[in-house]
Amino acid sequence: MDDLVFDFIFCPDEPDEKIINSFSDIINEKDLNVDYLKKISRESISFEFEAGIDLLETLITRKIDKIKIRIDLSGKVLNENTYACYHPGLSNSKNFLNEPYFSVSKSMLRNSLINYLNDSFSWDNILIWEHEIVHWLDDSLKKYNEEFFFGKGDFQGKRFISHLFDYRSEGLADLLNTLIGRNNITSMESARKEFVSEIRRVFKVPPSKKLFPGSALRNLDKNASYNIGPWMILHVLSCPGNPDRFTGTEELMLKQKTNDNYEPHEIPSLIRNGLKIDNYTFLKYLTKPGVDGHPFLTGDQMRLIRKTMNTIPNGREDIKYYEKKHPEESGSIIKIIEFYNWFGHE
Ligand SMILES: [Zn+2]
Repeated sequence: MDDLVFDFIFCPDEPDEKIINSFSDIINEKDLNVDYLKKISRESISFEFEAGIDLLETLITRKIDKIKIRIDLSGKVLNENTYACYHPGLSNSKNFLNEPYFSVSKSMLRNSLINYLNDSFSWDNILIWEHEIVHWLDDSLKKYNEEFFFGKGDFQGKRFISHLFDYRSEGLADLLNTLIGRNNITSMESARKEFVSEIRRVFKVPPSKKLFPGSALRNLDKNASYNIGPWMILHVLSCPGNPDRFTGTEELMLKQKTNDNYEPHEIPSLIRNGLKIDNYTFLKYLTKPGVDGHPFLTGDQMRLIRKTMNTIPNGREDIKYYEKKHPEESGSIIKIIEFYNWFGHE
């Protein structure tokens, strides 16, 4: 990777004494000042970012003009549970593909500084960057209008679909973590079981299949998308019917199971095919048989979901607007709605 150009933004730009002193357990008293804090923050974060991007090097063909990173020194900008994030919205300038915009939380920065000052680095942080960089490479995540369409209105079916989009994007970003054994779920079989129990939990569908659609979807668990999502992506990537399947998927899953080493190019190659999975393809192949002959979601489960969440109104008025403004995306929106509504009506 050529030398990267970084543009760091500190929040706040002029931290007060209280903020600076909150680093006194890491930085020696004689060095504890704004300039030094900013200097080592830039150095340690850019070092870990570069290590994260190196893991994916063969995959990055996009020209990178600049990496913008906002560092939250106050601990108030990003919420406690977030370490870093990629901002497709803030990157939404003409150059967003070549000038990605990320944020770093105070806790991630602290972890980075502690390691840096010990002449070390944080492997956790490097993997966090790898995850965020995959989000940046993921063009489907940038289909703002598709996301917006399904996130809008008081229709449970739409909300369920937009929730599934998270399983796709977080699953893709967490593929590497899963393959190196950093996911609590370690097999396709348990991922499928977990998803069914997550659906039951969220939809409150007791085994008797009595339905309570009213309260469903209020308890969505974003974390489930990190654990289950990667297995959904692996399922789609190994589906014999998927023209963009990755033929080495089974082998990589076997290596995960037996804790074998990967060749350096293997996981980036897998992710490259994963990046071709758009929201429609994802939904479609979840219901198709994988290499072991089982779909991730059976037709019966989808029928139950569809029945619980109701059909998505065709929304022709809405779609007309998208057809005019974003013809390519309106095509996939229609395909997704038709596919989802089809269950139970076939
Ligand atoms: Zn993510």
